[in-house]
Amino acid sequence: MTTSAPLTVPTAAAARPQPSPGVRRITGLQPTGRLHLGNLLGAIRPTVAAQYRTETIVFLADLHALTVAHQPNEVRANTLAQATTLLAAGLDPDRTTFYVQSQVPQHTELHYLLECTAGYGEAHRMIQFREKSATQQNVRLSLLSYPVLMAADILLHDVHEVPVGADQGQHLELTRTVAQRFNTRYGDTFVVPRAVHPAVSARVMDLADPTRKMGKSAESDAGVVLLLDPPEVVRRKVMRAVTDPGRTVDYDPQARPGLANLLDILAAAVGGDPAVLAADYRSYAQLKAAVAEAVDGLLRPVRLRHTELARDPGYVRRVLAEGADRARESAADTVYRARRAIGLLT
Ligand code: AMP
Repeated sequence: MTTSAPLTVPTAAAARPQPSPGVRRITGLQPTGRLHLGNLLGAIRPTVAAQYRTETIVFLADLHALTVAHQPNEVRANTLAQATTLLAAGLDPDRTTFYVQSQVPQHTELHYLLECTAGYGEAHRMIQFREKSATQQNVRLSLLSYPVLMAADILLHDVHEVPVGADQGQHLELTRTVAQRFNTRYGDTFVVPRAVHPAVSARVMDLADPTRKMGKSAESDAGVVLLLDPPEVVRRKVMRAVTDPGRTVDYDPQARPGLANLLDILAAAVGGDPAVLAADYRSYAQLKAAVAEAVDGLLRPVRLRHTELARDPGYVRRVLAEGADRARESAADTVYRARRAIGLLT
């Protein structure tokens, strides 16, 4: 194996994240579909950067993937594939507790205790439930209680901060309400977490349709740069990006969203201000070539590391098993407190 870094699994004691005088953060990612440039810039890169400042927990929310129609083999394969890609993208298991949700049974145990604390009306009011259930025939009960499982995910680890995008704000609010209610009813048990919003929220738009967010569920891959796309595919997608009529390269997100998206991506990749970077380019073709080069520069190390990791799937499984061991240890303590407080024999 041509490894630049040895594939050693962290040992429990050595690997425990450095105790931080600051805060503890948690991020959950659903193992659905393939990761793309939007995920990298909007979620993965900030998490990878945060792991060096803050005690960080990252889990793959495979139980959440069961709330809608799913293929069992796909969920399993996506979970391992996504874990491999996240490690390739810089998630460091020596720094971050990284595991798969279903491998820590305390998530579902606490979920039940919180279902006895949250109300049906509260779950039913969630916008995401309303939107998703409106488009489905056989709505699963788990889709309704999804935000309560999310509350359990968060409260399990006594975290202080949860990075959330706008779409998860309501769920985090429910988590806080349920935690406060439990604490008031049964005595102080949970840390009540706060939402943190990224300072500059990178929002990468679809290259083929710059009015849509780049996303896993796009009808076509033409405007979605996947993290593991080969260099020629990345280049082709960028060079074919939809731009606007006009010749000059200016940064104007309202009037020229396609061009602005390319400049935003360039700015995120190489650093700098998109409006200032615009002045360096005389033509769209020149700008696109620079964006293709910059994106490839971002993805090359991820691709190389992924190739190494994919040669040894046992390594990724061992990392996840070790992460789950650590997570179970801290989660068991929280569940014990909750069981005792709510009236169960311990
Ligand atoms: P999703 O792929 O929608 O499950 O989102 C996983 C994470 O990636 C969330 O934190 C999203 O906010 C982030 N994300 C997804 N798509 C984009 C995008 N196009 N631009 C920026 N961040 C994104």
